[in-house]
Amino acid sequence: MLKVKVCAIFLISSLLFAATAAAQNTKSLKTIIVDAGHGGKDFGAHGGYEGGMNSYEKNVTLAISNKLVAELKRQLPDVKIIPTRTTDIYQSPPEKADIANENKGDLFICIHADAVALQTGRRQIGTRQETRYKVTGKKKKRKKTPYTVTVPVYEYYKIGSKRSGTSVWLFAAHKTSEKLKALMKNGEEMEVETDNDSTYNSINFADPEYRMMAQVHASRYQQKSIKLAGLVDDEIDKTDRAALGINQRQKGIWVLQATNMPAILVETGFITNHDDERYLNSDKGQQEIAECIAKAVKRYKEQLESNKGNAVPAVEDKAEQKVLKEATTSKYSATDRN
Ligand SMILES: [Zn+2]
Repeated sequence: MLKVKVCAIFLISSLLFAATAAAQNTKSLKTIIVDAGHGGKDFGAHGGYEGGMNSYEKNVTLAISNKLVAELKRQLPDVKIIPTRTTDIYQSPPEKADIANENKGDLFICIHADAVALQTGRRQIGTRQETRYKVTGKKKKRKKTPYTVTVPVYEYYKIGSKRSGTSVWLFAAHKTSEKLKALMKNGEEMEVETDNDSTYNSINFADPEYRMMAQVHASRYQQKSIKLAGLVDDEIDKTDRAALGINQRQKGIWVLQATNMPAILVETGFITNHDDERYLNSDKGQQEIAECIAKAVKRYKEQLESNKGNAVPAVEDKAEQKVLKEATTSKYSATDRN
């Protein structure tokens, strides 16, 4: 009885697996995860310069993310859109990645806002009188004569950055997996897009799980990520905003690497720039960014579905297939792999 049951379950699950695989072939994009960067105790970047709005990145990313989710639902009604958060809550980068992986996302879109280190300026706001002493004579004849001078009084302030515009970031796979292999060997540090949590500052490339994930990204998802990033950049370029192009950081971005799907990170604008900060905090600006990304995703989906095999090469390499399978199926039993 037990044997029959096991066989039946095996058969059913095999059929289900085949059906899922078939569905995946006809519809390349079923689930999109939208991540509003930071949140809760992790405020992200701050527009704390003179004349600024004192806004925080976590609020801007949430507002844009909520609009993006709505826009994607409107433009792609047959695609499941899952936000990592819809309110001001804290999530560690691994928590965000888990949401994406557990929901089996086909695309991961991170929303962030850029910042640069602010320079300090000073200006004179008045004068004050200061007593100084003129010393004359030597030894016992030494005499100190007070006199007053007028000295300037300064005020110090943070200067908003000149840099503005929208950029798209990719997992730092450095185009070839060879470079990535070298990275993994050296155990290079990964950059985490968070200010307050130092727990995940580096990624352990000695951990086979991460090595597998990294390899999957490098060999397969990177092409899709580049495609989408290019389309987002193109849509931004059609607006009045500066499209700063596609970038790969020398250091990796943890959450892009840890998600088992094509992933991009959009630095929507500079919260430290006067005009950008206003744009990012405005309904109009948030909506424009959301529409740009949604249009890009729609084009990405259309290209993927109309140009199968050309747009993104299928996984032909047996070894690569193995890596992909292992990385996606044995997340919690990584110890036996090396
Ligand atoms: Zn950020």
